[in-house]
Amino acid sequence: RAKQDGRGVFRFFEPALDAAARKRRQLELDLREALQTGQFRLNFQPIFDLKSDRISGFEALLRWQHPERGNMPPAEFIPVAEETGMIIAIGEWVMHEACRQAVKWPDHVRVAVNVSPLQFRASGFANVIFQALSRSGLVHSRLEIEITESVFLEGESAVVSLLHQLRAMGVRIALDDFGTGYSSLSYLRSFPFDKIKIDKSFVDRVANDTSSAAIVRAIVDLATALHMETTAEGVEDDDQLARLRGQGCSSIQGYLFSRPIEGDMVAAMIASPMSAAA
Ligand code: C2E
Ligand code: MG
Ligand code: MG
Ligand code: MG
Repeated sequence: RAKQDGRGVFRFFEPALDAAARKRRQLELDLREALQTGQFRLNFQPIFDLKSDRISGFEALLRWQHPERGNMPPAEFIPVAEETGMIIAIGEWVMHEACRQAVKWPDHVRVAVNVSPLQFRASGFANVIFQALSRSGLVHSRLEIEITESVFLEGESAVVSLLHQLRAMGVRIALDDFGTGYSSLSYLRSFPFDKIKIDKSFVDRVANDTSSAAIVRAIVDLATALHMETTAEGVEDDDQLARLRGQGCSSIQGYLFSRPIEGDMVAAMIASPMSAAA
C-alpha cells in the first residue's frame, strides 16, 4: 500500500506503524505471561447504598503490575486482551478470584464483576460462572455481573436468552456505563436488569449542568418504573451526592466515598463506622 503513493507519504509513516504493531504483539505475549505467572490482582471499589446507608457491594477491578512498565490501567490492556481473545481466559481468572474473595465478606455484601462482550458471547460463559460459584461456595445472589449495552449489538435474542439462563441461576445482572453505548432502549423491555449504572460522564456534571441533571433524572425515573436499581458511577463531590440523593438514585460509587482498594482491606472497610459517613 505504501508503494502506491508516489509522494512517499505512507512510506514515511510506515516505521511508526510497525513499531505500534510490535508493541501490540509484545503486549499480547506479556498478557499471556501475566496470566501464567500471576501478575494480575483485583482491587475492589465500594458501592454505597443511599437507602440503607451502608456498603451493599464492591466492584472488582482488574489491576496489572507489568514487570517493566509498572502499573498499567485496564483502559490500556483490556482492548488488546479483547482483540486477541485473551480476555476470555483473563475474565475467567477474574470471575474465580472475585468469588473466592467475596465469600469471606459478610452475607449482605455483593461482588460485581465486569464481563466484556467477547467473554459474554464465548461458548461456555454460563459454565465459567457456575464453576466459579460452586468452587468458591458463594451464594449465587451475591454475584452481580456487569455488562455494557454493546453486547446487544449482535444477536439480541441470544443475549437475552443467556441473561435469562444466568438469572435462573440466581446471578444478578447490571447494565454498566448506561447511556454511552448502543442507543436503543428496546433491550430494557426484553430483559429486566437488576441495576442500571449511570455513566460517570453524566454524573460529572449533574450538579452544574441542567442537561446532565435532566438525563440523570430520566435514567433514574426509567429504572425505577422498571423496578431496577441505579448506581451513579464516578461520584467525586458532595454537590453531586446531594443531587443524586434528591433524584432518588439507589446507590453511589466514586472517589468521594472511596477509591478502589486492595482485597485485604475490604473487611476493615465494611466494619468501619466511616462506611456510614457518605
Ligand atoms: P467500569 O466498569 O465503568 O469501572 C469504573 C471505573 O471508574 C474504574 O476504572 C474505577 O476505578 C473508575 N472510577 C470509580 N470512581 C471514580 C471517580 O470518582 N473518579 C474517576 N475519575 N474514576 C472513578 P478502572 O479500574 O481503570 O477500570 C476501567 C474500565 O476497565 C472499567 O470501567 C471496565 O470497563 C474495565 N475493567 C476493569 N476491570 C475489568 C475486568 O475485570 N474485566 C473487564 N472485562 N473489564 C474490566
Ligand atoms: Mg463496571
Ligand atoms: Mg462503569
Ligand atoms: Mg464507566
